[in-house]
Amino acid sequence: MQDTGRTARRLESYVQGAWRAGQGEGKPLANAATGEVHAYIGSDGLDFAGALDWGREVGGAALRSHTVHERALMLKSVGLKLMEMKDEFHAESLATGATPKDAWPDIDGGIGTLLTFASHARRELPNAKVIPEGAIEPLSRDGSFVGQHILVPMRGIAIHINAFNFPVWGMLEKIAPALIAGMPCLVKPASSTAYVTELVVRRIIEMGILPDGALQLVCGGVGDMLNHVTGQDVVTFTGSATTGRKLKSHPAIVENSVRFTMEADSLNATILGPDAGPDTPEFDLFIREVHREMTSKAGQKCTAIRRIIVPKALEDAVIAALSERLAKTPAGLPDRPDTRLGALASVADRDGVREKIAEIAREAEIVFGDPDKVEVVSGDAEKGAFLNPVLLRCADPMNAVAPHEVEAFGPVATVMGYDGLDQAIALTMKGKGSLVSSVFTNDTDVAAELVLGVAPFHGRVMLGNRDSAKSSTGHGSPLAPLVHGGPGRAGGGEEMGGMRGVKHFMMRTAVQGTPRLLSSVTGNWVPGAPAEHGTHPFRKSLAELRIGDQLITESRLITEEDVEHFAHFTGDTFYAHMNSAAAKANPFFEDRVAHGYLIASFAAGLFVQPDPGPVLANYGVDNLRFLTPVYFGDSLRVQLTCKQINPREGTVYGEVRWDCRVTNQKDEVVAQYDVLTMVAKSWPLPEE
Ligand code: NDP
Repeated sequence: MQDTGRTARRLESYVQGAWRAGQGEGKPLANAATGEVHAYIGSDGLDFAGALDWGREVGGAALRSHTVHERALMLKSVGLKLMEMKDEFHAESLATGATPKDAWPDIDGGIGTLLTFASHARRELPNAKVIPEGAIEPLSRDGSFVGQHILVPMRGIAIHINAFNFPVWGMLEKIAPALIAGMPCLVKPASSTAYVTELVVRRIIEMGILPDGALQLVCGGVGDMLNHVTGQDVVTFTGSATTGRKLKSHPAIVENSVRFTMEADSLNATILGPDAGPDTPEFDLFIREVHREMTSKAGQKCTAIRRIIVPKALEDAVIAALSERLAKTPAGLPDRPDTRLGALASVADRDGVREKIAEIAREAEIVFGDPDKVEVVSGDAEKGAFLNPVLLRCADPMNAVAPHEVEAFGPVATVMGYDGLDQAIALTMKGKGSLVSSVFTNDTDVAAELVLGVAPFHGRVMLGNRDSAKSSTGHGSPLAPLVHGGPGRAGGGEEMGGMRGVKHFMMRTAVQGTPRLLSSVTGNWVPGAPAEHGTHPFRKSLAELRIGDQLITESRLITEEDVEHFAHFTGDTFYAHMNSAAAKANPFFEDRVAHGYLIASFAAGLFVQPDPGPVLANYGVDNLRFLTPVYFGDSLRVQLTCKQINPREGTVYGEVRWDCRVTNQKDEVVAQYDVLTMVAKSWPLPEE
């Protein structure tokens, strides 16, 4: 394999609105597979304090001038364009030693993560600049003083210090939630693979979609940058625990209580259930998964399996099956079709992994592979950062330390036997906190006991069995909607997890006040705030509809005939509606009661305006509660109030949430819920 054939390029940083090279020619970065110089990196002389200010002042202000949905749509456009360019990124990624298959989760997975965030944000968050969170808390008897949590973007900059192993995904999974939150980002990729990140950022900046200052990049060291962080900034870090601890205890981070998210070493475990012997599908799935986790990305994955925890009686069978597969995993140049194992990211990394294997081997024996002898099917075994897989077995794992604590960041893992599920859990816990663990079993009791035991030590637990053999996303794949992070040794951080990840870059503030003032802050109608009466609100398009537009309906008498009819019409002849004696024996009722769904149906009959109009569809109700029984002779009326308006970008309609209260003749609330509708932005609808 030739390096891409071009002259090694000098990487630049994108700060304060321009691409800037550091002073000097920079430090050479080698192609991991060939050893040739691929790029030069250096950031000496850049104005780091100025870059932070630029992000906060220019990028932050621009991002905050948009709503959540507008920001998410920018990311969607960026993601779709990146997808079209991915071949260029894959070509560049070969220099990292990663095979095209290895690069898939980094490049395609990274862009997919960005797009997933962009889509979930528009589905799950309001199209607003302030996000109300949770219920209104009544704080006074008369309802004149209430509380509500809100989320707003932090006023600082998110500094992302990333690891070398995922130069694209590592950046995109962090900037996506931050930018949706409205926080500008400064990305500092790990030097050894920064050329891939730099290329992607170049393409993003060229698109001209993100506002100025929203995304900056530093290729090289960060100099004195961390001296200038403020309490409004967020720092995220992925890498070694040693660097992470150093940065976390940086005086400016400590003094300013800067939010610091750390993802560091993780000795992830997988557990084979006692039921999953060699004649079961779970055994085969387990072997396949461990092999994949040891060899994909040459084992340089934060989620890779390092500890293989198996029933003592199955240890030999596991080692034999794994060794057979590992033997069929030739190392070589990443672009060759016969290569199954690419190179590590650098020769220094390979040397580091060898040292770690030696440390582990003091308490375990090597049962497959030889760390000092490299065999390749292509390329130069010495110049390229190649290392064949190494499997160890620890005979006394309950008393060993290194196999649980030393992370050999390469194609390396240790088999350890357990006696009983308690010991399997105890061994897993010896990792002192990991990103992920997996359990392979088809036994529901084993699954429940193991997950309960290991969950406190993990951010994610994957259950593998025959039924998800084809659909499972696997042990090692962090997913945008699920939490990625782990306690203890894994750094204590939490990333992604769907919209939880966005909230990491926002300030949660409890606001207290009158319903009217609180409504003005959140843009949502709060019960007790003033309401407007006039035209039926279903006759108003989004152009005319206002928060607080309210309808109070006529009342409707509930009769025995209504309940009888509804019961026989729907088939719901539950005794509380049909049998007076049985209903009276029920502690909740004094006599036969109306069906809850009858009440909701009559409520719709009361509040609906039937003519064709701007209300296009009803797509459900939220938080439906029946609060007071309705007896024959009660009469009900509805108060329907426009509570939240969510115009959808790029469509002719938006979502409207209505506060719906059904009360009886004594003004007791019998039912309460949110009605969800799609309403046209203008009426009549524009011609297509
Ligand atoms: P490092 O901790 O050395 O580097 C991680 C990031 O921190 C890089 O971007 C690095 O930049 C940056 N950095 C290093 N020193 C400083 C500093 N003083 N101030 C600001 N930034 C700094 O880790 P490596 O990438 O070398 O990986 C080493 C080990 O980390 C691996 O062998 C593995 O054990 C673990 N690791 C864990 C991961 C996880 O997700 N759990 C992922 C990757 C690695 P630069 O490259 O320019 O030095």
